[in-house]
Amino acid sequence: MNAQDERIARNEALFREVNERIAESAQRFESHEAEFVCECADQESTERMEVTVDEYERARADGAHFLLRPGHVDSRVERVVEHRGGRFAIVEKFNTAIARMVRKLDPRTESA
Ligand SMILES: [Zn+2]
Repeated sequence: MNAQDERIARNEALFREVNERIAESAQRFESHEAEFVCECADQESTERMEVTVDEYERARADGAHFLLRPGHVDSRVERVVEHRGGRFAIVEKFNTAIARMVRKLDPRTESA
């Protein structure tokens, strides 16, 4: 895999870790929604989205799915699988090198 793909995968995995902590505390306080961070590859992106815990869990069901601000989708590496108006989009990595790496970095898989 090339360096750019690797950077994309690592960035998104990092933002996913941040969101896992946010989801944990939302569940601890029994709140139904939380402000999650955009999981796009742009390190400068610090945008947040109001997402329900259920919606977040749906995104996390697949290790190659990520939660993004609608305007941050990079159509070169991912396709939208679910759209929630202007609030957020769930995308799937179709770039196989990136998908393989983000699945490996998924904290929810046994092999991670
Ligand atoms: Zn973003």
